[in-house]
Amino acid sequence: MREARLLLATRNPGKIGEIRKELAGAPVRLLCCDDLAGWPDLREDGETFEDNAIAKAAQLARWAGLPALADDSGLEVDALGGEPGVRSAHFAGEHGDDAANIELLLRRMQGLPRGKRNARFVCVLALASPREERFLVRETCEGSIALAPRGKGGFGYDPVFVPGGERRTMAELSLEEKNAISHRGKALRHIRALLEAGEPVWLFA
Ligand code: IMP
Repeated sequence: MREARLLLATRNPGKIGEIRKELAGAPVRLLCCDDLAGWPDLREDGETFEDNAIAKAAQLARWAGLPALADDSGLEVDALGGEPGVRSAHFAGEHGDDAANIELLLRRMQGLPRGKRNARFVCVLALASPREERFLVRETCEGSIALAPRGKGGFGYDPVFVPGGERRTMAELSLEEKNAISHRGKALRHIRALLEAGEPVWLFA
């Protein structure tokens, strides 16, 4: 099978490392921001993870004239009607202030008993071509929100997210344990299986 070139639509070194690790050996040559000069600012102001992932992949594919892969992810809490959702990174205001986001989340859920703290992490991966072809994968990791933060690993909401069937929070798991069950790990393995089967066909045309 021909090896396709695929541009990663993220500058986050953590995500780049994780994507490279999970897609190692797949029939794609991954390029990232360090490989191209003049990287554009990517807009992500959509209402859904799908809108944002497609928007990022499509903007970059159009700009570079190459197929691109983007990820959009976040936390949905049932008792909050799906919030923080697409606003996960800037729930408490400033983008990526994990401690403030967790504090606000716990405050908004104060008094809710264990049985009413269901939540899930969602990851949507989008592939887009410069010719407007699109492909989407969505995976989730179901769990619940702890009463207080625990653990030092991971990032974002990991210290308050307890995956289903676990007693530990995501932040108390090793990176290998987290990737084996996480939304992003599952979505990357899903994409990997498709790439190995020569899908989507336009990527290899
Ligand atoms: P993105 O980088 O725009 O996709 O923002 C995703 C946000 O969702 C992050 O800043 C985190 O707050 C949250 N998030 C996504 N995936 C995870 C995860 O694996 N653990 C903890 N928080 C996550």
